[in-house]
This record gives sequence, C-alpha cells and structure tokens, in this order.
Amino acid sequence: MGASAGLRRKIPSVDALLRSDPGRRASATLGRPLLKRCIQQVLDETRAATDRGAEPPPDDVLLARALAIASRTATGLTPVINATGVVLHTNLGRAPLPEEAVKAAARAARSYTDLEIDRETGKRGKRSTRAELLLTSLTGAEAALVVNNNAAAVLLALAALAKRKDVLVSRGELIEIGGEFRIPDIMAASGASLVEVGTTNRTRLQDYRSALTEKTGLILKVHPSNYRVVGFTAAPSAADLVQLARKSGVPFLYDLGSGLLDRWNGVPPDEPAATEALEDGADLVCFSGDKLLGGPQAGIVVGRADLVGRLRQHPIARAVRVDKMQVAALESVLAAYAAGHHDDLPVRRMLREPADRVRQRAQQLAGALDGDLEGAHVRPVESAVGGGSMPGHAIPSWGVELKTRGADVLAARLRTGSPAVFCRVDRDRAIFDVRTVAPEQIPHLARAILYALEGDDLDDEG
Ligand SMILES: *Cc1c(COP(=O)(O)O)cnc(C)c1O
Repeated sequence: MGASAGLRRKIPSVDALLRSDPGRRASATLGRPLLKRCIQQVLDETRAATDRGAEPPPDDVLLARALAIASRTATGLTPVINATGVVLHTNLGRAPLPEEAVKAAARAARSYTDLEIDRETGKRGKRSTRAELLLTSLTGAEAALVVNNNAAAVLLALAALAKRKDVLVSRGELIEIGGEFRIPDIMAASGASLVEVGTTNRTRLQDYRSALTEKTGLILKVHPSNYRVVGFTAAPSAADLVQLARKSGVPFLYDLGSGLLDRWNGVPPDEPAATEALEDGADLVCFSGDKLLGGPQAGIVVGRADLVGRLRQHPIARAVRVDKMQVAALESVLAAYAAGHHDDLPVRRMLREPADRVRQRAQQLAGALDGDLEGAHVRPVESAVGGGSMPGHAIPSWGVELKTRGADVLAARLRTGSPAVFCRVDRDRAIFDVRTVAPEQIPHLARAILYALEGDDLDDEG
C-alpha cells in the first residue's frame, strides 16, 4: 500500500504534461481536448500499473504514449494489409469494395444527389428504390427492403411481424455472431417472445408443430453462420418449415446471414443462397450486404410484398435506414451482379482464385524477402471465408512462413507499422497468407516485414 502510494507520487499531473514544450506543440496540431483525454487515459493506466508495483516510466515516455494515441486517433481509420487469409474479416471491415462502388460512394458523399426524389415527377421518393429493383430482379422476390445492417433487418422483422407474439426458433440456431448479436437478445429487444424448439443438436419438424399455438407470430430459421453442429444432428429443411408455416398461417423468416445471392462452384452445399430460400417458399429472407455479397454494410430483406410493406411502415425502419454512401455502393455492386460482372468483385475474386495463382504470389513475396532472410519459406496454408460465412470451410491457399522466436512481437510491430499488416501467428511462426493480399501490395508487404525485423532482437520486447 505505502510503496504503491510512493510510486503514484512519481506520476506527473495532466497539466504538467500539457504545459511541457512538446505538450504545447502537440496541442497546437492535434487540439488540446484530444491530447488531454489521451494523457488522462495514459496516466490512469500508469496508476493502475503502479498499484501492481510497477515503477512509472519517465514523463517524456508517458507523453509520447499519449501523443501516439492522439495522432492515431486524428489520422482515423488506417488501411491495412490483410495477410490473415480471412476473406471476410469483420474486425478488418469485411468486404473490400470494387473500385466502381468506391467511386459511387464518393460521388454520393461529395455532392447533392437524387437520393429521395424522383427526377421525373419531382416528387419525394425512397432512397433504396433502385437497390430494391435490382434485388427483386436478381432474386425473383416480390419486394425488397434495404436497412443499415442485417442485425437491424432481423430486429425490424421481429418487431414488425411478431411483437407480443411467439417466435419459434430451433435451439441449435440460438446463435451469437461476433460483436454482441445474439438471437435471444434481439428477440427481447423487438418485443417478441422466443420459443425454443428441439435440442441443440437435433430439432425435428414435429418439435415445431407441437410448439405452434395461436400466439405464434413467426417461424424463424437462422443460418448457424459461424459454427457447425456436427455428428448426431437433425434439422428440418427450409422447405419443410415453409409447409408447416403455410398450413398454420404463420410467416416464415429465414436469416441467411451470409448473403450468397445464388450458388456458384465451390460454395459448400450447407451454405444457403437467397434464391434457393425463396424458391423453397420462404416468406422473407434476410442477409448482410458486406459478407458473401461483397458489397457495403447493409441489411437486405427480400420476399412477400405484404410483409416487406409491414417492415417498411414500422418506425424502426426509419431508425435503421441506410445512408447515401451505402446506398450508392450497394447499387453499384448489385448492378455488377445484374450485368453478370460479379466475378470481378474483390470478395468473389479472392474466394475463387485458384491455389496455384496464390502460390505464385507467395513465391513473389518470398523472393522479395530473400537475400535478407533465411527463415522464410513458401508453404501451403488454409484460408477461411470468415464473417460468419461457410463455417468450417477451409480454402486451400499459399503463404510465407517466417520462423522467429519473437513471432508475437513481430506481429505487433507489423500491426503498428506503415503500412500496417495483419498476419497469423502460430507459436514461433508468423504466417502470411497471400490469398487476401493483392498483387500490388506484395512489395509493400515485403518492405513492412523487413522493416519490422530490423533493429533490436525480437526477443527483447517479448
Ligand atoms: C452476420 C449475421 C448477422 C448480422 O449481420 P450484420 O450485417 O453484421 O448486422 C445476423 N444473422 C446471421 C445469421 C449472420 O450471419
């Protein structure tokens, strides 16, 4: 206790750091309020460390830490090289957009647009009219609706169709998607009551049938998008649930999550496509815009016009509307699908690139590192789809493995370097899967790796 109080006394005040010469200079460029907050944060952490008996670092080190946080914050989002091989990496922003969509979003951001106005009549229109027409064309659905993200789409559908009613969901589908999207919580927030059906590994049609009452407002099927139930399992097909829903006059909503519009070669059979779910007779189907679809963040609902209409009328629809940049990017991506150019979308390209082409890129990377490095070698690896799509489905890929004692330290340096790089670490190995690295990024990636390996021994910081 006494010792830590002594240590605490060595910690400077926020004002002392702000008033120092470097503090003043940084205030002038970054702004005093931001710098002050960052200093407070660093000093709080330092106090916590002294309570554990750690000697506080010198004042200039503390200020440098605060400055680093403040300038990273002022810089904003930083583009990174994704060498993890996870194509739809939620923490790295999921789908990179095609150039056309980027331009469309930038145009919408920069100027006034006909966002909610019909240029023929001069009358007020809807912001997602164009995207909805594209979606109904592509899926054959009667109607479509676009909201901010798929979590919002599920919330909206539950609130609009099943408030104060029961919603039947299989116990095997009570999923949590990274980032606090949990079906039971969304259900509670919507005002609908969750009725769990069946067991974790086996749910039969009969389980749904016996759970149906006059209070049932909806049957919900959720694609278990980030895990797989394997072994002794059973679940009724979407088509079977459609039959049951029809017979009982209850709508059937299928949350696909991943946003596969239709099937293409290489998609595992257990990954449902929107067109198939609609052909099976699902009343509503919802999915994300920035997963397998390869577009911007969005929540897309397609299906029966009367039900989509009820969603559209609900107040939550207004609260979760898409912004104009999302709309512009989504229109552009959907137009690419409509014109048959969707294989050029970055996500599709990355997922479909043949392993031997990826291998050539890995060899280029190894070549660029060679001479400077001995421990680097090209090896086969497995990429993942990520983003809650195609769980358990590995894509054969190639990468460069770097054997070094301080692999964690190396990865940390790469993350904070310029360009910033994210790789995989497996014990004493850093692994760079180049499926998710564009050809033009290879020289930058090589440079970043060589730079991160320079200087002090990697062991020292570990
Ligand atoms: C990803 C996912 C969601 C959430 O979608 P967001 O677009 O991230 O809000 C909901 N349901 C399922 C099944 C998903 O896979």
